[in-house]
Amino acid sequence: MKVIIVGSGLAGATAAAALNDAGADVRVIEQSPVWGGQLRTEHAGGIHYEPHGAHILHTTDRQVWDFVTDRVEMLPYRHRVMTEVDDRLLSWPPQVSELEQLPQWADIRRELDRRPGTPRTTNFETWCEDIMGTTLYSLFIRPYTIKQWGTDPRELAAQWAPKRIELRVDGYRDLFRDPYQGWPRGGYLTLIDALLGGVPVEMGAAVDAETFAERTRGADAVVLTAPLDVFFRHALGELPWRGVRLESHFLPGADHVLPCGVVNHPGLDQAYTRRIETKWMSGQTRAGTVVSYEYPGAPARHYPVDDVDGRNRGLAHDYRALVAEEFGPRVHLAGRLATYTYIDMDQAIRQGLNAAARILKRADARYPTAGRP
Ligand SMILES: Cc1cc2nc3c(=O)[nH]c(=O)nc-3n(C[C@H](O)[C@H](O)[C@H](O)COP(=O)(O)OP(=O)(O)OC[C@H]3O[C@@H](n4cnc5c(N)ncnc54)[C@H](O)[C@@H]3O)c2cc1C
Repeated sequence: MKVIIVGSGLAGATAAAALNDAGADVRVIEQSPVWGGQLRTEHAGGIHYEPHGAHILHTTDRQVWDFVTDRVEMLPYRHRVMTEVDDRLLSWPPQVSELEQLPQWADIRRELDRRPGTPRTTNFETWCEDIMGTTLYSLFIRPYTIKQWGTDPRELAAQWAPKRIELRVDGYRDLFRDPYQGWPRGGYLTLIDALLGGVPVEMGAAVDAETFAERTRGADAVVLTAPLDVFFRHALGELPWRGVRLESHFLPGADHVLPCGVVNHPGLDQAYTRRIETKWMSGQTRAGTVVSYEYPGAPARHYPVDDVDGRNRGLAHDYRALVAEEFGPRVHLAGRLATYTYIDMDQAIRQGLNAAARILKRADARYPTAGRP
């Protein structure tokens, strides 16, 4: 069985590895001159840093975790984040016990006592205010959201807020609660190298709707991880994204500069939203460190814009329908770009594994021994 994978990010690389392991004839086509998509680890003075943004693998999905740890060594990193508010460093997500030190505590407490049982889902702002009150929302969330999204928070849907916004009373300080968490020894390219090591990859070649038939000729199945509006040359319109840009500084001789892996900066007085010190994730002990400043508003496809009217979600749905209509059931969509959703790495891996499983199942149904070694 012959399969073409369009895109060598984590979703495409996972599907490629799973299909390759099952004995399929797999080839990856990647538009960029390098593989790995959003995942990249660079070095300065021997110190790892991530020029496309900090990544921590965290999951409840045991099969995903096993898939990764069968291929690379995961360092046992637990992610901690702090937020700078009024010149103080406080835990993120906010811990109610720490908020008592804020001069606004009397207002915060009153608003917490008056919260409704169920938050309104009118838009992102109403949801957050009902979870934490107006004062806390104005300190921690509203200015960060304005910087990050370049829009009024009321223009954003409430839908993705529950995954990102939390107020804690339990003293638990790791960002994630998942049972499996870590950072790959040597960085994320070791994972991509392990996934694609046995697969032919053509780099520097894009596939779109015009070239699709020619580029995938003879393939029984195709896994498509490209952005569909670009793939169809914006035939139905453009899907908007918000991107970030990282500026990294190497500091020779320093051990650590930040108190933890990521510090959020919600204040509108700084243009950046986060500072990141990858040395906390990599566990390196040599002298020197790299601190990366994350600036929002870059022209990159990082975060799909979940508008309050659901316009963008509707357009993404229309593009997916167009793929099915024009190219039929041979094409399987996977990954953040093709699905126009923010997904974490474990979900990208899960989508890659599911695409591979669907392809193998279809092959089994058609030719009972196809696709098996
Ligand atoms: C700033 C930031 C921080 C993040 N932090 C975390 C984190 O801490 N933990 C976590 O779990 N997740 C995190 N994520 C999410 C994570 O990056 C993604 O889940 C994952 O990288 C998605 O992989 P993908 O394969 O879907 O997409 P991508 O990595 O974007 O890969 C798609 C690939 O397809 C290629 N391609 C596109 N179009 C074409 C075409 N037409 N022809 C050929 N090739 C094409 C691209 O060049 C790219 O290589 C973060 C994301 C961002 C933006």
